[in-house]
Amino acid sequence: MVNERMLGLGVEPNAIRELFAYGMARKAEIGDGNVFDFSIGNPSVPAPVAVKDAALALLEQPAASLHGYSPAGGVPEVRAAVADSIRRRFGIDASSESVYMTAGAAASIAISVSAVTEPGDEVVVISPYFPEYKVWIETAGCACVEVPARMSDFQPDIDALAAAIGPRTSAVIINTPNNPVGVVYSRKSLEALADLLAAKEAELGRELYLISDEPYREIVYDGVEVPYVPCVYERTIMCYSYSKSLSLPGERIGYVYVSDRMENAASVNSAVAGAGRALGYVCAPVLFQRVIAACVDEPSDVASYAANRKLLTKGLSALGYEFVEPQGAFYLWMRALEDDARAFGERAKAHELLLVPSDSFGVPGWVRVSYCVSADVITAAMPAFKALMEEYRR
Ligand code: PLP
Repeated sequence: MVNERMLGLGVEPNAIRELFAYGMARKAEIGDGNVFDFSIGNPSVPAPVAVKDAALALLEQPAASLHGYSPAGGVPEVRAAVADSIRRRFGIDASSESVYMTAGAAASIAISVSAVTEPGDEVVVISPYFPEYKVWIETAGCACVEVPARMSDFQPDIDALAAAIGPRTSAVIINTPNNPVGVVYSRKSLEALADLLAAKEAELGRELYLISDEPYREIVYDGVEVPYVPCVYERTIMCYSYSKSLSLPGERIGYVYVSDRMENAASVNSAVAGAGRALGYVCAPVLFQRVIAACVDEPSDVASYAANRKLLTKGLSALGYEFVEPQGAFYLWMRALEDDARAFGERAKAHELLLVPSDSFGVPGWVRVSYCVSADVITAAMPAFKALMEEYRR
């Protein structure tokens, strides 16, 4: 026999990956240039030259330091380099003991959820949300409580969160800059959330953790402020990844940072190490841990995403589409032209446009357009977007 739940997860289609696979097959059939694939968040910008230079220089070093095990939480110098960067960039007194190197944000979030919950607890997410949150929450034996974002601007709805947080709540997961909506949570929103969590901790007599998923932290436009969440709320566990900021999703590298401002940071650090052990996330890829230490302050190249954003928003608004103006990440949240986003996605597909229906993110009526593609794809897709709009207007 096999585990029923795992079997279900293994066979259950992941809509994004399924659409991406469809796109690959369709491209093989009708040619790359005839399919407009806006399905997946695979960075189109190459990793910085500094990453390649660091990797090549490291490969000259003794193999044991590159390909051998590191301590479970990471190479001590790497954890120290990350903590030092956090201290310098965000002015928080980060210690290397509070940095746990991981295989990307996915591992970071799964670890964080397991570290601060008991089976039967509730973890709150803000919908629309990254679909894997539910998988990680339920794997920890917890219930995923979905609270819709404020519809006017997709910022957290503080009143709705207040109503959802109860005696079984252990944590709230946020994601800013946001996938799929592209908004960045404002300082005002984060401060209101921090005040709410502090008040609820006092009322309920239990710790409430804020798990802040931030793989897109550096990918923002027009100089929008991205407040550092551990500075806003003390009981924050920050989940970071270099998948998007340095275009390294295949290298599986990131970290958990437990805010040193939390009074129980030492026990949370131990629980993070324990969850890493329990889930098998120990000793993140060592070569890339060392690359990160060398490139810890390397800036992200957002110029092409910014250009794509402009091209896409200008084109779509001229055609009459309604969408949320993206402030960060590389996704555009566009209203479907009918209530059933899946049906709209299918009609878009007939025009070779691959858009992810919002049902995948827990809400109806929208689609996500990933614009981490080449600018040519956006330009070439405009006649298809036009034809799709005309089809609905007819
Ligand atoms: N969280 C969000 C919001 C994401 O969009 C992604 C990946 O697309 C992840 C987490 C997982 O990232 P990683 O590749 O670092 O595991």
